[in-house]
Amino acid sequence: MITEPGSRFRLAASSAAVGFLTGALVVAIAGVIWERRHPTLPPPPDSDALPEFASDPIGDLRARNLEMPVLGSSREALRNTFDDARGGSRKHEAIDILAPRGTPVVAVEDGTIAKLFLSDAGGITAYLFDPTTSYVYYYAHLDRYAAGLAEAARVTRGQVLGYVGVSGNAPKDTPHLHFAIFKLTESRKWWQGTAIDPFTVLK
Ligand SMILES: [Zn+2]
Repeated sequence: MITEPGSRFRLAASSAAVGFLTGALVVAIAGVIWERRHPTLPPPPDSDALPEFASDPIGDLRARNLEMPVLGSSREALRNTFDDARGGSRKHEAIDILAPRGTPVVAVEDGTIAKLFLSDAGGITAYLFDPTTSYVYYYAHLDRYAAGLAEAARVTRGQVLGYVGVSGNAPKDTPHLHFAIFKLTESRKWWQGTAIDPFTVLK
């Protein structure tokens, strides 16, 4: 069989075009999936425009008279488990508030949702920036989020963020909220900070 050089060229050119278009389509779809999984957050606020970090974070937070993070829980029933060991040299650096599964968890003060994150240990988690972006409040082992909760959303003190559950590594027969407070670093990243004892702040 004799193949015309011209048709061979056309075949090669058209398959190259199909390959290029397929590649472009794959890149576009991958971009959409990436964007859906990693929604673009507003850039962190200009740190020059933010107030200085408080010199006494515990005093600063205590003065805010934060809401209890679990609706209806009492300050008297809180137990301090901040220094409890959690495997190896890890410390708990949080407080556990026991409550029936499905009990609402609420914003301890006005703020902005910094991140909604699914982790192996924490399960369904939410990170909430305080109004000065000096601290992040961390809620873990949720059963689910409140309907419509989204990253970068502004929330008000007492607003329901989600519900107590056993997600992540929580014992399945002990629903509780794992609640932590981190003082942010200068870069104000939701995942970087120094743990502050919530017991001392909330009690
Ligand atoms: Zn815990």
